[in-house]
Amino acid sequence: MKRFLIVFALVLLAILPSAAAEGPFNHAVGLVVIDPGHGGHDPGAVGNGLNEKDAVLSIALKLRDLLSDDGIEVVMTRDSDVFVELEQRCVIANSALWPEGKSALFVSIHANSSEASEASGFEVYTARNDKVIDFLNESTPAGMGFRFASLSREKASQECALMSDRLGRAIVDSIASGFPYMNRRGLKEGNLYVLNCTAMPSALVEAAFISNPEEVLSLGSDAFAVKMAEAIESGILDYSDSIR
Ligand SMILES: [Zn+2]
Repeated sequence: MKRFLIVFALVLLAILPSAAAEGPFNHAVGLVVIDPGHGGHDPGAVGNGLNEKDAVLSIALKLRDLLSDDGIEVVMTRDSDVFVELEQRCVIANSALWPEGKSALFVSIHANSSEASEASGFEVYTARNDKVIDFLNESTPAGMGFRFASLSREKASQECALMSDRLGRAIVDSIASGFPYMNRRGLKEGNLYVLNCTAMPSALVEAAFISNPEEVLSLGSDAFAVKMAEAIESGILDYSDSIR
């Protein structure tokens, strides 16, 4: 028994430092939670007869199919025209099981609006340094406590912010190369509910301006939705490749 305990302790010592150094986010992406903004009685921004909720759902469903073809698991916070509370979106994200040995991401999709009709382009938000992960408590779903057990809450928040930043940059770059004619508004820091409450690297894409008379035309088209979904997919794959 004593010998067994010594061997067990040595095995633990061998495993623990590497597990702590790797962290839960430093694995290829195996799960993406896609969050199409608004829905149901909440149309989001409206312009030229187009509702934000419909435009972003169209992009999100195409992104779902692309990622599934890549062998990545997808969880949708909504896949039809229904209203989902922000809190519930986070519950859906945080309850999703991560595939063994893989990491997870949260990607929210919205369309922008401005009183200045000439405002144009795409931008991506991350919580970055604002991100406070408050999930190591009694509401932590089974399995999640173990996943983050090797990290302090501060360290988990820090790593999540760092990886969110990396994800945001990858998506900005891939949208820029897919849409070279669009105004690149870049990566911004946003104190947004869905970015703050999801216990995984996260980003929110503002695909185009629904208030811009030219952009709203493309935003409502199937071709734009396909291309935007491909660009976001490519950013996610670039991010995943950059980990290993
Ligand atoms: Zn929105």
